[in-house]
Amino acid sequence: MASPAAAVPQRQLFIDGEWRAPALGRRIPVVNPSTEGHIGEIPAGTAEDIDAAVKAARAALKRNRGRDWARASGAVRAKYLRAIAAKITERKPELAKLEALDCGKPYDEATWDMDDVAGCFEFFAGLAEDLDKKQNSPVSLPLENFKCHLRRDPIGVVGLITPWNYPLLMATWKVAPALAAGCTAVLKPSELASVTCLELADVCKEVGLPSGVLNIVTGLGPDAGAPLAAHPDVDKVSFTGSSATGQKIMTAAATMVKPVSLELGGKSPIVVFDDVDIDKGPVLTMNYLQTKIAKEFIERMVAWSKNIKVSDPLEEGCRLGPVVSEGQYEKIKKFVANAKSEGATILTGGVRPKHLEKGYYIEPTIITDVSTSMEIWREEVFGPVLCVKEFSTEDEAIELANDTHYGLAGAVLSADRERCQRVAEEIDAGAIWVNCSQPCFCQAPWGGNKRSGFGRELGDGGLDIYLSVKQITEYTSDEPWGWYQPPSKM
Ligand code: NAD
Repeated sequence: MASPAAAVPQRQLFIDGEWRAPALGRRIPVVNPSTEGHIGEIPAGTAEDIDAAVKAARAALKRNRGRDWARASGAVRAKYLRAIAAKITERKPELAKLEALDCGKPYDEATWDMDDVAGCFEFFAGLAEDLDKKQNSPVSLPLENFKCHLRRDPIGVVGLITPWNYPLLMATWKVAPALAAGCTAVLKPSELASVTCLELADVCKEVGLPSGVLNIVTGLGPDAGAPLAAHPDVDKVSFTGSSATGQKIMTAAATMVKPVSLELGGKSPIVVFDDVDIDKGPVLTMNYLQTKIAKEFIERMVAWSKNIKVSDPLEEGCRLGPVVSEGQYEKIKKFVANAKSEGATILTGGVRPKHLEKGYYIEPTIITDVSTSMEIWREEVFGPVLCVKEFSTEDEAIELANDTHYGLAGAVLSADRERCQRVAEEIDAGAIWVNCSQPCFCQAPWGGNKRSGFGRELGDGGLDIYLSVKQITEYTSDEPWGWYQPPSKM
């Protein structure tokens, strides 16, 4: 499929089970962030393509009684999800390579992502099977002449809009539960990293997923994402991305009272107490440091960060690749320059590594002497930049950690497990890591508080955001029921 000059497969939009050229015939270049070279193209879908994809998803939802996706049993849907998981595992090296080429993440990390993708499809296959057991569950009522049971029905056609970090994994966090629940979907991945999502379409074709169940329309946010969020025949929108775009999605959905799930930006605090093992701590990164250990900890942190291998993501041992795009690269450099002009100290990094002449590379960056009013402290940078601030007491650490309008995640590092528990309970965020940072398991719920969004993906309740609960209540007596009695009884 690959054209001679391209390193990524040349694909079309995936609509109604087939590859279709975008209605307006436009394409978007794929840039390798490591070389700045063009390595292929993705189709640029627009409102016309979104419309066709939504129609296909609607038709697949309830085609003919018994032959449609919404009314298939969870066990049937699970078979497809497990088949997708198996294919992802089979194609792991190729998919990981494409992910690394497209978004710049180290190849090793991309292979772990592919394991997580397969694991996520497996996990939701299990929940689809469990859903069968939960159907028609009885509700106990206080009146004996009534019986009630619950149906858990798919919410309908869902629009899924995803970002460029973890491109295939973020898409999977939505596609797997939506399909497991019996929804049909239109996925709009990030224009900066859509290559592996188009390969997911190929996997769906290979496993024979019924046509229209999953449609994938690549394209720019305003051209393809916005018409999907605003489409009158889309029953729900699930979005992961920046808080600014999240606001637009919510506004578009509000005009039709359409439910949304929003996984937005974060500024996650890492609180390090002075009883941590100073040799292990720096590897976990930090940003709030208890004063007693601050100086030595920062010195080790700087030494450690200089040791991180920054290189082409496909080079062996790479631990930090380039950032995804020129736009993101310029944005991060501006954050660092603004921090400097506001009086912060750039202890290390903030510049292009000397050994890399091309590519959107930024050295691991550590910034000190920051005040809580500075832009670099308050805003999400989304790059290899860490700000460090000292605290002296536990109460002060908690207060600082909560002094943000985000609430996605946080971490606490201390040898005192009770203290960890106390701090974990006090930080206002959807996920807290204790003596670790960043592990994400699809078995546990994920999502943010405050401006990091609302709704929880993943976990045991991971299907709930794609389900609509219906009560069916039956009157079982032969006696007439109701306020108004029939004439004979009057
Ligand atoms: P982004 O908001 O720029 O784009 C996300 C998606 O929205 C893309 O597919 C984009 O094309 C689309 N989009 C853009 N404008 C749109 C519009 N007007 N209408 C509809 N769709 C539109 O975000 P990004 O730069 O791709 O991703 C980085 C952001 O994602 C960061 O803020 C990061 O914190 C966040 N993120 C959050 C989580 C989480 O779990 N909460 C996970 C990963 C990333």
